[in-house]
Amino acid sequence: MEKYKIYVFLLLILFISGFYYVTAKEVNTDLLGRIIYIDPGHGGLDPGAMYKDIYEKDINLSISLKLQEALGREGAIVYLTRYGDYDLSVKNAINRKRSDLFMRSKEINDSDCDMFLSIHLNSDPSNTWHGAQVFYNDKNPKNKQIAKLFQDSFKKYLNSNRKYKKDNTLYLQRKVNRPGVLLEVGFISNPNDRYKLRQNYYQDKIVNTIVMSLKEYYK
Ligand SMILES: [Zn+2]
Repeated sequence: MEKYKIYVFLLLILFISGFYYVTAKEVNTDLLGRIIYIDPGHGGLDPGAMYKDIYEKDINLSISLKLQEALGREGAIVYLTRYGDYDLSVKNAINRKRSDLFMRSKEINDSDCDMFLSIHLNSDPSNTWHGAQVFYNDKNPKNKQIAKLFQDSFKKYLNSNRKYKKDNTLYLQRKVNRPGVLLEVGFISNPNDRYKLRQNYYQDKIVNTIVMSLKEYYK
């Protein structure tokens, strides 16, 4: 009888520790309360890069909306510079593109976000270039570290062999004073990238890679 009681006791201990193990694994608070600003490139009259009737603006938005949902599940506070097919330029702007980018940078700066991520696709006259690549402006010392971390993840999870790159000429990156980078998640000009970028499973893969990178950065 005593032996039986010990077995029950041991089983109870196992059950409780197993329960705590499962709960501890499920609660990950790395992104809880982090304010992330997602900037889906282009929109409205500006399609971005294109191939036949495939527009960069649409793929950027699709990935950004999925990313918004995924980050929301992690407890992050997420904003997008656009939630549909439009741009942010003011009425009668002399330079529509410049006005659009300026308004995006203003929204991002006013938000006091922890990080901003511009989502774009790359394009090149040669269709052999492929893979996801990160661009950063070194005005904020954190940006290089963020860029390296994302590029490492792109290599590991998306098989990209590209290198992260400093570019201080990009207008939006120059105007924004929050930490953040530009993610060119693939080449619309490359047939293989273009095919994958339009598939749900691959967009989800990109989103998961970005979420994992952010968790890594804030852990
Ligand atoms: Zn673009």
